[in-house]
Amino acid sequence: MAIKVERFVVSGGDLSLEPEANFYLIESEGEAVLIDSGFYSEETKKLIEAIARKWNLKAAFITHLHEDHAGGIPFLRELGVKIFLHRDEKVPPSFKFEIEDAVFRVKEGLRLFFRGFTVRLCHTPGHTRGHISPYVEEEKILFSGDTILSKGTPWVGPPEGDMKVYMETLKMLRGLDIRVIYSGHGEEIANPGEKIDEYIAHRLEREKQIIKAIESGKKSIEEITDYVYDKEDLPEHVVPFARLTVLAHLDKLKKEGRVFQTSKTTYELLKGEK
Ligand SMILES: [Zn+2]
Repeated sequence: MAIKVERFVVSGGDLSLEPEANFYLIESEGEAVLIDSGFYSEETKKLIEAIARKWNLKAAFITHLHEDHAGGIPFLRELGVKIFLHRDEKVPPSFKFEIEDAVFRVKEGLRLFFRGFTVRLCHTPGHTRGHISPYVEEEKILFSGDTILSKGTPWVGPPEGDMKVYMETLKMLRGLDIRVIYSGHGEEIANPGEKIDEYIAHRLEREKQIIKAIESGKKSIEEITDYVYDKEDLPEHVVPFARLTVLAHLDKLKKEGRVFQTSKTTYELLKGEK
């Protein structure tokens, strides 16, 4: 008995950072669960209500508390659907609705059994602290939220993001038997191993460039960012994000004892680090 997975694409409107986001329905023998819940919008509300009319909606797993994934929580709550979130996930101050009274806070590895499928809630921190990626064991499907995207790479930076933790998450996922990834944005990813390897290589390459920048005398985050990124790839409004990404890498290298911080904004390599 195979399960069915359906993808819903919802749009964020003009004010959103993300133009579109996916959420997913898993259905088997009349029972269904949702992965993520779209934006807080009339479009999302209608979709979720239609799903709940059609299926016995048993649960909703929210990968993380960003507006493009968690916006449907108030609608799910109204329908009495059980909502699951990781216990480390923080509620951003910008959220327009209450979270805590309606959700179950879970920890790594919780397994839930439905008719014909088992969902394991893998803790995949890095993009946010309490990010989860639900994994359907029988079908080897990973719902990756913003941990792995079908195009580009996810934002990993302070305060909620952590590059060291993110790299550990990627390595953990590389060891998981995954047939296909359904991401929070874009099309499905049919070559999970290759994709995760690419992601790891991309971040390690960036790290190498940062070490090279410090070696050649760049000491501040601004200088390192200018050294590492091509000017043409970096329009003015992206510069602050690039700097925060550099900062996330520097935090990782600091935790690993490979660089040390010489002032609030300057860094040096530890002797012998190449
Ligand atoms: Zn996100």
